[in-house]
Amino acid sequence: MKRRNYIKNTLLGIPLVLLSPAVLSSSCHEDENIMPNGKKVIIIGAGLAGLTAAKMLKARGFDVVVLEAQNKVGGRLRTDRSLGVAFDEGASWIHGIDKNPITRLANESGMQTFHTKDEDWKAYDIKGALIDSAKFDQVEKEYEKILNTLMKSGKANQSFETVFNQLHPTKVNDRLWKFILSAYLTFDTGDLNKLSSLYYNEGEEFGGIEKIATNGYDTIPNYLAKNINIQLNQRVTKIDYSTKKAKVSHNGTTSEADFVIVTVPLGVLKAGKIEFLPTLPSTKKEAIQKVGMSCVNKFLLTWDKAFWDDVQYIAYTPETRDKFNYFVNVKKFHPSVNALITFAYADYARKTETMTDTQIIDEIMTHLRDIYGNNIPMPTKMLRTKWQSNENAYGAYSYTAVGTEMEHFEELAEAVNNQIFFAGEHTEVDYFSTAHGAYLSGVREAEKIIDLQ
Ligand SMILES: Cc1cc2nc3c(=O)[nH]c(=O)nc-3n(C[C@H](O)[C@H](O)[C@H](O)COP(=O)(O)OP(=O)(O)OC[C@H]3O[C@@H](n4cnc5c(N)ncnc54)[C@H](O)[C@@H]3O)c2cc1C
Repeated sequence: MKRRNYIKNTLLGIPLVLLSPAVLSSSCHEDENIMPNGKKVIIIGAGLAGLTAAKMLKARGFDVVVLEAQNKVGGRLRTDRSLGVAFDEGASWIHGIDKNPITRLANESGMQTFHTKDEDWKAYDIKGALIDSAKFDQVEKEYEKILNTLMKSGKANQSFETVFNQLHPTKVNDRLWKFILSAYLTFDTGDLNKLSSLYYNEGEEFGGIEKIATNGYDTIPNYLAKNINIQLNQRVTKIDYSTKKAKVSHNGTTSEADFVIVTVPLGVLKAGKIEFLPTLPSTKKEAIQKVGMSCVNKFLLTWDKAFWDDVQYIAYTPETRDKFNYFVNVKKFHPSVNALITFAYADYARKTETMTDTQIIDEIMTHLRDIYGNNIPMPTKMLRTKWQSNENAYGAYSYTAVGTEMEHFEELAEAVNNQIFFAGEHTEVDYFSTAHGAYLSGVREAEKIIDLQ
């Protein structure tokens, strides 16, 4: 289903050039056409932001080295193919394909996609009771109205949940409302009891349909990584920018550069896993602390035979919010694969990371048996994510927690001394939490460094 369920002001204020990966295509010259400019850039992190910046800077003659902690590129664009189907552990969708830079990157890199129709769904209440689509539509409309108005009652120190519960006490325990808030809002943002009641609906969107990657979102970073000097298994622990050349410590060695771009996820910055010398400005530190980092976990389950409805999405409204409450039917885009993908969000997502595979499967099967009966077969295999405890991310993506101001995203993007630059989805005030936000942040920081020449 669609993250950010309705379209706000699309494309406001973004120069068209930034929306076009032609910025990158034009930088895909062969090495011999590039005139070295004598400046070195170290980019920390080979996710979409880092690789985008690397490609642009290399094309402008910079000596670029990417230091990546993991043994592969892509970061939160990460695909597991061990069960014979591409399971995207991080991003799956291009959210709104119109003018979205990811659309062109997908075409150029060979990432295949499928139109996941938002209207192709069935929703079930507990005991398998089918939810009437008129009732669903009506709650969805009311939800959109509430989303447009709740901030008027919002307070700087109150969460979305606190204000919602005060304004709509009768909806608090309604299972359909729990589902809508969870699948539409928490999935998109973060824990409702930590989400800002003022800025829960920020950011811009692209128009057009939603498309899901079918052969793996990692197709894009693998394409961008070609001909870039990337050093894998290099975990950066310290950046010393007290001298003219910055010194970056990784795996017991130190590398020097004129410029450094830090693209590690906000969760890594929050966890203080990289020491900065001198310490970062207090405004930057405050922004790192105030902007929230959500948790979403994904689960792919396979069966020998499909027993579920032939629709794109199966929604379920359990008592526990954020718990395996909708299923993506993989068979719709891989007809020979009998698989479903389901999700856990926020605190329930964190809880799943302490559960065994058997416990997870038991909980998911309880929901599916409630819908389809006790005779359905057990899954043959499961793949799962643990984004909160993942030391390369410590969470899924950034969101506006209580206390976040939109300026905090801008502060996260501020360079320090024109020497240390920051990119990554969490630095894009208009498109944070998305793949296109990560891409745009890489373009932005590369341009800043190019402009200094
Ligand atoms: C579960 C989930 C679902 C999502 N769904 C969607 C979706 O459907 N559509 C969408 O548009 N977006 C989605 N996103 C968001 C999208 O995946 C991210 O916004 C984007 O991939 C972030 O790119 P990035 O370059 O900013 O960061 P990353 O991809 O995280 O790259 C940062 C890199 O830094 C590396 N690193 C970390 N610490 C160190 C260190 N100390 N030293 C060296 N390297 C380090 C990491 O290993 C990583 O490779 C989803 C994300 C998640 C987690």
